[in-house]
Amino acid sequence: MRIKTQIIATLLSAAALIGLVGGIAIVSEMTLAKSAAVAEATSVGRQLAETIAFKASDAPQSLFERPVALREFVGLQHSRSKRDLVVVDRNKVVLADIPGEEANVGTRFDHDRGNEIGLAIEDGVPRNFVEDSGDVAEPINLVAVPIEDASGVRTGAVLFEYTPLLRAAQIRTNNMLWLVGLCTAAAMLIAAVSTFLLLRGFDAGLSGLTRGIGSLARGDAGARIGRTSNDEFGQLAQGFDTMASELESSRTQLVEQKAYIEDIVQTVAEGIVVVDGNGQIVTVNLAAAQIVGRRSDKIEGQEWRSILDMRTLSGEKFTSGTSPVELALTTGRQHQSEVRLLKPDGSHLPMIASCNPLNRSDGGIVLTLNDISELRRAERAVNDRAEELAVLNRELKVTSEATTRLVKLGELLQACVTFPEAFSVVGSAMPDFFGGLSGTVHLTSASRNLVEEMAHWGAIRSSVGQFAPEDCWALRRGQEHVAGPGMLTPRCNHITENGSRGYVCMPLAAQGETLGIVHLCEPDAADNPDWLVERQQILRGVVDTLALALANLRLRETLRQQSIRDPNTGLYNRRYLEETSSRELRRMERSQQPLAMIMLDVDHFKQFNDTFGHEAGDLVLKQVAGTLLDHARESDVVSRYGGEEFALMMPAVSLADGVERAEGLRKAIKQLHLAHRGRTLGTITASFGVAAFPELGASWAEIVNAADRALYQAKADGRDRVVAGHGKDPADRQQAKSRKSET
Ligand code: GH3
Ligand code: MG
Ligand code: MG
Repeated sequence: MRIKTQIIATLLSAAALIGLVGGIAIVSEMTLAKSAAVAEATSVGRQLAETIAFKASDAPQSLFERPVALREFVGLQHSRSKRDLVVVDRNKVVLADIPGEEANVGTRFDHDRGNEIGLAIEDGVPRNFVEDSGDVAEPINLVAVPIEDASGVRTGAVLFEYTPLLRAAQIRTNNMLWLVGLCTAAAMLIAAVSTFLLLRGFDAGLSGLTRGIGSLARGDAGARIGRTSNDEFGQLAQGFDTMASELESSRTQLVEQKAYIEDIVQTVAEGIVVVDGNGQIVTVNLAAAQIVGRRSDKIEGQEWRSILDMRTLSGEKFTSGTSPVELALTTGRQHQSEVRLLKPDGSHLPMIASCNPLNRSDGGIVLTLNDISELRRAERAVNDRAEELAVLNRELKVTSEATTRLVKLGELLQACVTFPEAFSVVGSAMPDFFGGLSGTVHLTSASRNLVEEMAHWGAIRSSVGQFAPEDCWALRRGQEHVAGPGMLTPRCNHITENGSRGYVCMPLAAQGETLGIVHLCEPDAADNPDWLVERQQILRGVVDTLALALANLRLRETLRQQSIRDPNTGLYNRRYLEETSSRELRRMERSQQPLAMIMLDVDHFKQFNDTFGHEAGDLVLKQVAGTLLDHARESDVVSRYGGEEFALMMPAVSLADGVERAEGLRKAIKQLHLAHRGRTLGTITASFGVAAFPELGASWAEIVNAADRALYQAKADGRDRVVAGHGKDPADRQQAKSRKSET
């Protein structure tokens, strides 16, 4: 039931209750008034009856027994009370009546319909009744009180009217009735007015609240009522508005938070899939849709297995109940593992699948898919890089070892004084550099028309020992030349093998000069095509080191030659002669062989110079030197002793043979046809002094002195002759000198 109806019903019920209570009070009052009237009449009647039955002392009979006195008494009582009063005997015959009704005396009173008089006389209990007869204008209310005589016999009854009392009571009751009615009406009116006012207030307050709540229920968070009154409805409206504002701000915050969270969920790189307790996908984010390769609306609502084909790390299907999703769904606990996700195009994606149970009664999980393919790629790259580094490290170690060896080779080569020494070092060091490969070092001769093998290592000899420079492509082109199986490059002519072997010739170039080649051969080039690549760097290092060392050696040799030779004639100088002569002398001494020495001096050379010029003089000296060299053996040392003076040291040559050799030289010089710039210079002669070990001295100085002396002797004797030393003392030489100066 609605509140308004309840209010109306309550107020009307209250008014009706007031009326009812008033009515009941009136009825009670009426009953009480009647009873009081009857009681009062009965009491009066009793007094009257007692009075009537009473025997006064001054009278022998009671009033009852005296009709005249009785009638007077009745008349007197009536005049006093103005109420009807009748006395009847036990037969209900009227004994006395009020004045004006005297005619009724002697008649039977039958106006009690229920014989109330008779009954009262019979049982002694007063009874009231309404006289109902046509004689009276209106009904008279009477009470019949029995009259008892002194002996207690009921002899008659007094009928006494109580209508006036009843009327007075009725008037009172009527008044009360009016009062109650008016009060009830006033109460009803007040109730109605109150109801109206109350309902109006209710309506105003409730309609605002109802409207606000209705708007709120329809989702209008901006619904407000506004404070319309100062009563409880106003407070309620204010409370509602406050609550609605809070609700609105909460809803705004909620919407913002929801949007924020959705934004986060949508933008995170990880794929997020929400699966309910039945294994159905509730929602997915953008990343998850991309990972799966389908649109979100094609995924949501599907069974997770039909969308996510998860495999083990080895690419096999999970056995039933062992995938992280199933484990999380069945156990309600978190599960995480690395899986392979099979995409529709057949490709596998490595993923970390994290399944976190939702805190909901119907179960469900949040599955996070983290694509770790980049991580795996990076790991592979790191591993590859580590392997490369390890390889590089190994190579570096090899290179470092090779570099150390190279440095050592360089040091050894630098320490070498001669080419044979250097090539001996090369021959023993190379196998270390080229691990089992055979090879050679060939040097170009000074004449540049021959390339000769200087060192060899390894079991294979793949090049001839000597060849012309043009037989090697490396020498021809001045750059590395590689040939082997499957290569289009021509093979050098100096290579002895067929095409099954691979080889490389590297020019030995230093200081702008090509000294020769280093040749390296790989017998299994067909099976090992990278044989050279692996050794290229070390080969270059070896070639550079070797080339530099050989160039240095050559330079050193040149310098040495310059220091021991005379630049004009190319003969050894006196310093070299003295160095080697002492050594040769000891050698001859050890082997008990002779050693001869010839000293010669061009005759009158000063004059020659003066005649033909210094330049012509130089030319003559060169020709003399050439003649000396032409006649010398390999073991002889031909030197320019100083000026136009020459010395020949001839190991294993005796004095006699020395003289003979000197004689031959003398003739040869004399036969020289000298010309300079088209001008004939005539002939020259030279004087010779010959000495020998052991005849003319045990030391080099003694032999030189002896030869010197013999030379001066030859000068003194007229020049152009050979004089063998004869062991004369220096004084003889001085004598010979003075003779010479005289000539
Ligand atoms: P003798 O027969 O006594 O030896 O007479 P000589 O003139 O040859 O002897 P001398 O010692 O008086 O003179 C030597 C000359 O040799 C002096 C010098 O001009 C010449 N001479 C020395 N060395 C060279 C050289 O390298 N070139 C030239 N053109 N002349 C030289
Ligand atoms: Mg001289
Ligand atoms: Mg001279």
